[in-house]
Amino acid sequence: MAKDQLVQTSEIDLEAWGKERGIKYFMVNFTDLLGAQRTKLVPIRGIAGMQEGGAGFAGFAGGMDYTPAHPDMLVMPDADAAIQVPWQPDMAWVPGNPVMKNEYSAQAPRNVLRNQIAEAAELGLHVKIGVEPEFSLLTPDGKALADELDTRVKPCYDQQSMMRNYHIIREISEYMLQLGWGNYQNDHEDANGQWEMNWDFDDVLAMADQLSFFKFMAKYVAEKHGMRASFMPKPLPTLTGNGLHAHISAWDGTGEDAKTNLFAGSDDTPTGRYGLSETGKHFLGGILKHGSGMAVICCPTVNSYKRIGAPSTASGSTWAPNSVTWAGDNRTHLVRVPGGGRMELRLPDGSTNPYLMPAVIMAAGIDGIRTKADPGEAKEIDMYVDGHQVKDAPKLPQNMLDGLRMFEADNVLTSAMGDEFSSAFLKLKNKEWGEYSSHFTEWERQHTLDI
Ligand code: ADP
Ligand code: MG
Ligand code: MG
Ligand code: MG
Ligand code: MG
Repeated sequence: MAKDQLVQTSEIDLEAWGKERGIKYFMVNFTDLLGAQRTKLVPIRGIAGMQEGGAGFAGFAGGMDYTPAHPDMLVMPDADAAIQVPWQPDMAWVPGNPVMKNEYSAQAPRNVLRNQIAEAAELGLHVKIGVEPEFSLLTPDGKALADELDTRVKPCYDQQSMMRNYHIIREISEYMLQLGWGNYQNDHEDANGQWEMNWDFDDVLAMADQLSFFKFMAKYVAEKHGMRASFMPKPLPTLTGNGLHAHISAWDGTGEDAKTNLFAGSDDTPTGRYGLSETGKHFLGGILKHGSGMAVICCPTVNSYKRIGAPSTASGSTWAPNSVTWAGDNRTHLVRVPGGGRMELRLPDGSTNPYLMPAVIMAAGIDGIRTKADPGEAKEIDMYVDGHQVKDAPKLPQNMLDGLRMFEADNVLTSAMGDEFSSAFLKLKNKEWGEYSSHFTEWERQHTLDI
């Protein structure tokens, strides 16, 4: 590979880093267009070569829009992001940046996010996010709850279930603490068998890697204990779905250099009253402007739309938004602005791609800043009860195809995410929709047999 084209900025030499820590194997990893993590297991003797020239993958086989005729996609490990695997300390996990034909692949999700980070930096903004992954602990076949005793109608924060599942939640928590992520709370969520674990927000690329690793870790720990951890948006039809809310702020620097939250401010304007600065206001305006268009990135699967706009669940609420509105500390809207210069996007679900979700938030927010988008007044109503009163709010897509069409129609968003990415994503996802639609269902037999 031509070195001048692909500058590796890390000062970390992975081989030396690994030797110091007793690492024997590296998982060189990338996340594909559909959100799956793919890996090559590289013994330490091979890592120097990989750091120089990348790990080779057939992109077609690995969930990317390439053909079998394409050359190898080379994944350049990002040494700065390497994690020593807490439950397997002789192994390291290293997310990488895919390269095709000597250029960073413009369709690879981690590169799409890196491009948004560069765009934001041009405006002097460094986004930080915190995520709230919810997941279900299921039996290995994924069809039932693993914990048979978890049957309460309103199970949120259930103490007895916490005790029964302590060994699992505690193990994941300890790994997070060991990694220095600052895990600060863990709870049973609103559906039977549903959990959420929270840790401190971080720079957006670091958080995307952490979220990827969190999914890997939760699945591993659950499997070890004979269960299956699923982030599927609606794994069981009558229970609350698995959301993945994202909290967003933007700062004057990254890491320790971040001193000022540029979204924080207060004045007597509709957004200033909720603790948002002019910059925060326009970013929010961008999210609302592109709310329908970005939905299919945040909710990318057929199953996602059983969570969005769902009827009330067994616990009494879906907690998921159904149209494009914002409010203060009110959990019935697309965006909640709880104060302190941050906004919470409640749209994403557990099937969202950890890199594309923050990328599309940034693309929408950056457009909002560039166009001085105005989010208007907060709507301080309970959307589940009084949503019908709101006549001017765009609706979220009703299904994946609707979402794909809304994304495709949002030219500003598709070009901000990159034309190559957008057409690759639409191509793979439309193919998936086609497969789904040709799937014969019992429902249609029942509704059509005697017509
Ligand atoms: P909720 O009340 O929505 O359930 P949680 O406490 O579960 O909230 O999660 C809040 C998330 O927001 C955490 O990941 C936290 O680190 C993050 N967060 C807090 N402040 C900020 C901020 N200024 N910018 C980005 N994320 C933040
Ligand atoms: Mg081979
Ligand atoms: Mg939470
Ligand atoms: Mg939650
Ligand atoms: Mg939340």
